[in-house]
Amino acid sequence: MNFIQTRGIDTNKPAKAAFSEVILDPIASFGGLYVPEKLPELGEEFLQKHLQSSYKELALDMLLRFEVDIEKEILEEALALYDKFDDGKNPVPVVKVKEDLFVSELYHGPTRAFKDMALQPFGVVLSSIAQKRDENYLILAATSGDTGPAALETFKNRANVKVACLYPDGGTSDVQRLQMVTEDAPNLKVIGIHGVFDDAQSALKRLLASQDFKNTLKEKHTMLSAANSVNFGRIIFQIIYHIHSYLELVRTNEITMGEKVYLNVPSGNFGNALGGYYAWKMGLPVEKIIISSNENNVLTRLIKDGKYDLRQSEVVSTTSPAMDILKSSNVERVLYDLFGTERTRELMQNLEEQNFYELTQEELIKLQECFDADFCTGEEGKKYIKDTFEKNNYLMDPHTATCMKSYETCTKDGIKTIAYSTAEWTKFSPVIANALTGAQNMSDIEALETISKTASLPIPQMVKDLFSKEIAQKTVIEKENIEDEILKFL
Ligand SMILES: *Cc1c(COP(=O)(O)O)cnc(C)c1O
Repeated sequence: MNFIQTRGIDTNKPAKAAFSEVILDPIASFGGLYVPEKLPELGEEFLQKHLQSSYKELALDMLLRFEVDIEKEILEEALALYDKFDDGKNPVPVVKVKEDLFVSELYHGPTRAFKDMALQPFGVVLSSIAQKRDENYLILAATSGDTGPAALETFKNRANVKVACLYPDGGTSDVQRLQMVTEDAPNLKVIGIHGVFDDAQSALKRLLASQDFKNTLKEKHTMLSAANSVNFGRIIFQIIYHIHSYLELVRTNEITMGEKVYLNVPSGNFGNALGGYYAWKMGLPVEKIIISSNENNVLTRLIKDGKYDLRQSEVVSTTSPAMDILKSSNVERVLYDLFGTERTRELMQNLEEQNFYELTQEELIKLQECFDADFCTGEEGKKYIKDTFEKNNYLMDPHTATCMKSYETCTKDGIKTIAYSTAEWTKFSPVIANALTGAQNMSDIEALETISKTASLPIPQMVKDLFSKEIAQKTVIEKENIEDEILKFL
């Protein structure tokens, strides 16, 4: 399988690249992205074949059909990491919440959020490519809370890879911060910054673009890479669970094979939604993909009105911070798939230069054949958390709760919905405690105990342990000193 480029080809990049190459160097010509030249056709035969398969068997077969240039043994080693999830036999449980609403829980991995679904196997794959090439990589990560822990966890003690992870000190939840600063391995460095997430992100972008920094790394025999969600090495693992979730509904006789369903995705950078879109293109019976947002609702406006408009917009902080994103990078891959290279380059150029683009009426109709969307405010989300808990005995986090609004506004009767849950309640406990009991300003540990009592749910041991673990990573610095700090670590 070859990968081609969303914005056409300049002279610096080869016209086509292999999977291993797009993993190491994910940015294509003109700042575009890599996409598969042709998606494998799976069709009903593939779905039938895997009705009795385990998650790992399904995943391996799908990866093999992509014909990636990674040995089967490495893929098996990567997929074996799903054995460490809560239930190794079924790492992604699908729970019935209402007659026509099912929640696919993507958070049963080591860091309790959906980033593990892709980053766990990705770590093995990237490290194996680096070893094979006899190269050393520095992975830079900037995090608002979920990517950082998942990246540290996956690369911990892996050969030929080091990770420097930047987070805004005071800008994450206690659980998220503890997940990072208690990680103790010689190849990991966690750096707190006096500032907000954007400061960490800007610093990362500056370093990734700096030739000086790359040259300095070269003297230390190290190359630079990033584990952000535009990397196709992450996207590929996010197609699998959409297929799995559908098969789970067939297995439990909730739907018949071939029946269409809605996939409802709480979206930020659009990686999760893109995985669903590709699964659909490959043959999964889908009615529409529903894009759920919080107050940062650019995607709702794109899908309703055809305008991607950042001219008046600033990111607002919400109760679902992993979705506080305005430039949703993976949308570009859908534009490419629907409208082709020339138009994608034009639209993305408009966005970069004018903070705005507008689809034609014809293009908007095409987009709406695939997607619908709505957004949910933090206050509405808290009401959904409380109501769903009280009426359906199901507890969800504030990201997942954004799906409840669009489930009400965007679905037709008679078609079932799979909504995706992207975080465990333990990761955003103060908001959930507030939703359930009205309690204000609780620390994470107080909130965890409150929810545990109210909902009669045990606090998972791995979360409890965080509060007594030794702090291994103590660096907190001014943002001007990031580069020096990283070089000191190397
Ligand atoms: C990353 C994340 C999202 C957004 O996922 P995208 O693939 O970026 O759209 C939603 N919820 C949680 C909890 C996340 O960590």
